[in-house]
Amino acid sequence: MSHPSIKYYSRFIYFFILTFMTTSCLSQTQQSKESDDLRIKMVENQIVARGVKDERVIKAMKKIERHLFVPPGYQSQAYNDYPLPIGDGQTISQPYIVALMTEMLKPEETDKVLEIGTGSGYQAAILAEICDSVYTIEIFESLGKQARQLLTALGYKNIQVKIGDGYQGWPEYAPFDGIIATCASTHIPEAIENQLAEGGRLVIPVGERNNQVLKLFVKKNNKLRLMDTVPVRFVPMINEEGDSY
Ligand code: SAH
Repeated sequence: MSHPSIKYYSRFIYFFILTFMTTSCLSQTQQSKESDDLRIKMVENQIVARGVKDERVIKAMKKIERHLFVPPGYQSQAYNDYPLPIGDGQTISQPYIVALMTEMLKPEETDKVLEIGTGSGYQAAILAEICDSVYTIEIFESLGKQARQLLTALGYKNIQVKIGDGYQGWPEYAPFDGIIATCASTHIPEAIENQLAEGGRLVIPVGERNNQVLKLFVKKNNKLRLMDTVPVRFVPMINEEGDSY
């Protein structure tokens, strides 16, 4: 027979564990409710209010938990109206820019899309919600590996992450219906132009560090036609030595 005080203590401990589990579960639900609210507000105030209309882009931005794509120390700022550091001197783009670039790309359900500059993997996840398949390239191994791990954990089976120089594109899977670069180049890389399908769209920031424009091209008769430009500021596209293209 057990000692009465042991019985008393075990009951107490049991009660304590139960209380702890209930409160931690509650606070987790509360936290996810808070981030859901912040995300809806982000989409309404920063994205829809600025003129993004594509329903599929809006739906994807409302669904994807952006806070999972930023380092723990920045999670409370994940739904704010600016870019955030993600390591290796790189940034996750401002939410509005992600929405704008995705809308400019005019992604379709059947599209195969190439992204240059995986970074956190957030833009790739948005594209994967809308398109058939996403191929994304990151030059920093640590970022690419981390993004791949997160995207796999989130269950994305239609995203392939490659570590390497996106300036060369991904010839094995070309042609692409859409190509999006999230790092700026002073010119359009030839491989990117060649790997875009006829009728495909290319969205790319072009220019020097402090003077860039986001350009939308459509490939018609095997030539890139400039359709739209928006002033922006992105990190540069670099080679393996870290020099800008
Ligand atoms: N799309 C990202 C934004 C990342 S910022 C996101 O949603 O988080 C741009 C990224 O481009 C950086 O991670 C940078 O390392 C990467 N990059 C720069 N030059 C590159 C190149 N030549 N090939 C592939 N990635 C490159």
